[in-house]
Amino acid sequence: LSQRIRAAVDKLRGRGRITEADLKATLREIRMSLLEADVNFEVAKGFVQSVQEKTLGAQVLESLTPAEQILSVVYEELVKMLGGEAKQPVLKSEGNLWFMVGLQGSGKTTTSGKLALFYKSKGRRPLLVAADTQRPAARDQLRILGERIGVPVLEVADGERPETTRTRIQQHLTFDYRDLVIVDTAGRLQIDEALMGELAKLKGVLGPSETLLVVDAMTGQEALNVSKAFEERIGVSGLILTKLDGDARGGAALSARHVTGKPIYFAGVSEKIEGGLEPFYPDRLAQRILGMGDLQTLLEKAKAAELEAPDKALKDITLEDLITQMRQLRKMGSFTDILGMIPGMSRMLPAGFQVDERQVNRMEAIVLSMTPKERRDPKILNASRRKRIAAGSGTTVQEVNRLIKTFEDTKGMMRTMQKQQGRGRGLFRR
Ligand code: GDP
Ligand code: MG
Repeated sequence: LSQRIRAAVDKLRGRGRITEADLKATLREIRMSLLEADVNFEVAKGFVQSVQEKTLGAQVLESLTPAEQILSVVYEELVKMLGGEAKQPVLKSEGNLWFMVGLQGSGKTTTSGKLALFYKSKGRRPLLVAADTQRPAARDQLRILGERIGVPVLEVADGERPETTRTRIQQHLTFDYRDLVIVDTAGRLQIDEALMGELAKLKGVLGPSETLLVVDAMTGQEALNVSKAFEERIGVSGLILTKLDGDARGGAALSARHVTGKPIYFAGVSEKIEGGLEPFYPDRLAQRILGMGDLQTLLEKAKAAELEAPDKALKDITLEDLITQMRQLRKMGSFTDILGMIPGMSRMLPAGFQVDERQVNRMEAIVLSMTPKERRDPKILNASRRKRIAAGSGTTVQEVNRLIKTFEDTKGMMRTMQKQQGRGRGLFRR
């Protein structure tokens, strides 16, 4: 998914403005890449449509290039589609029963164990129920898992009536003070009407507080039909996306969300029980899908910085402003971090690239050693002044010279850029 979108947006990078034809072409690429990532056709179409509407109605932000603006709309829509905020399942003080459903191999048993451990470490008292009577080894798998993490496992017998299972669970709750019951159920490789019937019946008798559909992130297009079937036949209250540690592209998440409209609570990120489950963050998956750094943080910070930026023409910028800007940037984090947040930048820099923060500190010291008059008008910086500044800042005259030269060069460059931008504002050429 990410490759195509990246390429499309990279194509727009460095352009002053974008024509509607450019926008259409970009959106076509985005739709294609969604389809390639096994997102359902209707889902992809709807997504692209809302991106188009938002982009056309978007307010033009001076601090962002048009390419960045389109990207930010794509990103925001993606986050919204994935559920917006991170959400957690409902957890009452007692009487919690979570019913785990999904295809065979999707990760139900593993995830049941992970959930039990996750909540045990938060002070809960979980009880695991092995209700997968289809495969002989299924109950053993959960029993062994339970032993390892120190959580009791109640095994449902072959042909046991759902009412009996309910009573046995109730006994555990009463005598062993269990406050979170996690029921692992059987799955099939494909949707199977007989099994669906059994699951629906068991669910009806147990009356779970949450019905969690476990979706394998690697299943792609199939996720849509599976989610649809479970939602229609059993009813689902939340989703868990497993195997996100593989090279899954995220299409399954979009499809499952779209057909159920239910929140994705957790993401499976390893086959290990310990640490293999994480709360699901829509923004993180969106970033992963688009393959970029922390774009949203960048956007927010860029907006904040814009508000604080001195409102003056670039040609009038002084060293004093440079210090102000550097301090504002510093507030955002280290310069290395800031570079990493700029989309595309992380790929352009060599791995492990680090801004020399000491160098930045020295620059700041030099400017601070200048008088306000010198900062406003570096032209008055003669040899003796430069020497004084070097001594005062604990640097050398060469460093002072270099800073002043860099500053003048940058100003010249900014002037050119401003002229180019001045040729027209707005995203689209009309
Ligand atoms: P079930 O048939 O739905 O109960 O699926 P299982 O829990 O038995 O899992 C099937 C396979 O997927 C097992 O090999 C698990 O180790 C593996 N698995 C489950 N969740 C994850 C995950 O988040 N990441 C990875 N890499 N493997 C997982
Ligand atoms: Mg299983």
